[in-house]
Amino acid sequence: MSTFKALMVTKDEAGLQHVGWSQLTEADLMDGDVTVRVTHSTINYKDGLVLSGKSAVPRKFPMVAGIDFAGIVETSGHSNFKSGDAVLLNGFGLSETHFGGFAEKARVRGDWLIKLPNGIDAHHAMAIGTAGYTAMLSVLALEKHGMKPSDGPALVTGAAGGVGSVAIALLAKLGWHVIASTGRTEEADYLKSLGATEIIERKELSEPGRPLGKERWAAGVDSVGSHTLVNALGMTKAHGAIACCGLAQGMDLPGNVAPFILRGVALLGIDSVMCPMPHRIEAWNRLARDLDLKLLDSMTKTIRLDNVVEEAATILKGGIRGRVVVTVA
Ligand code: NDP
Repeated sequence: MSTFKALMVTKDEAGLQHVGWSQLTEADLMDGDVTVRVTHSTINYKDGLVLSGKSAVPRKFPMVAGIDFAGIVETSGHSNFKSGDAVLLNGFGLSETHFGGFAEKARVRGDWLIKLPNGIDAHHAMAIGTAGYTAMLSVLALEKHGMKPSDGPALVTGAAGGVGSVAIALLAKLGWHVIASTGRTEEADYLKSLGATEIIERKELSEPGRPLGKERWAAGVDSVGSHTLVNALGMTKAHGAIACCGLAQGMDLPGNVAPFILRGVALLGIDSVMCPMPHRIEAWNRLARDLDLKLLDSMTKTIRLDNVVEEAATILKGGIRGRVVVTVA
């Protein structure tokens, strides 16, 4: 039986995790009704955590890392998919409880798969990846809350990162005045090229602040959490909303209820992993419509599967600008 390469996280008897390459056969794959030849994957912050070998993300061992993949269906017992279909998968427990995308093959439930939307190939699908799809979920949440560009500016925190870069491109295309918060002010030209109108220093938001400040933005996409999110909420205009999707600064929320009860500000939670399929399809169709692929290319670098461990360490240090595609095939 032929073998294929997979990047695995194992746990030893002392409870220590180890990350290394293995050769698997199809018999080693987990249960599922669709087998996919993986052609592309990507690196998200969560992949960085998994490949650090110190996270609580993998809940079964051994585990194939990688929370995303795109590829071609080889065999399918699912009525929606047939051999040769181009598909993508984000989350649904990949790299947590089910073998993930840093492998040349994957077997998954067809219920988790999405056919590539028109106009988006496998490379672009992984340039978007979970980070970009989460940015779209965040924008959709703001829209569903009734927010629109005429309400005022939109803040994007963690602006030069993956979620942040795609959020800027989307919000700007949709007509928002985007205020980008970054610790990398040397990336101001990059952020403006994506559509940011104003750049503010990360420090303005990341230190402990007042519960309510001057009203500066109507909406926001926050991938940072902690004091940054508290300050973002405290400076949101009355009846505005912030979509909360990340924890790059921290998982804590050291604030109080003042923005909610005195200004009617809404905090919109975003979960990409178990997001129901109709919302995923809506998000991917909107990405196909609203994300400028030339801008996506300008924020994306491409690496080979062999280099994924090294690149994943960089993302945890906030060292990756925009998005990284991993070519697998
Ligand atoms: P990136 O590393 O690409 O982006 C995170 C950005 O946050 C960095 O580029 C940096 O931006 C900023 N940042 C990093 N460290 C700090 C810090 N200590 N304080 C303040 N800002 C910081 O990661 P992703 O875009 O892939 O993911 C962002 C976050 O969103 C992660 O926490 C991730 O886990 C979460 N996420 C959640 C999802 C969900 O389902 N809710 C799905 C996808 C991601 P800059 O240099 O511009 O300041």
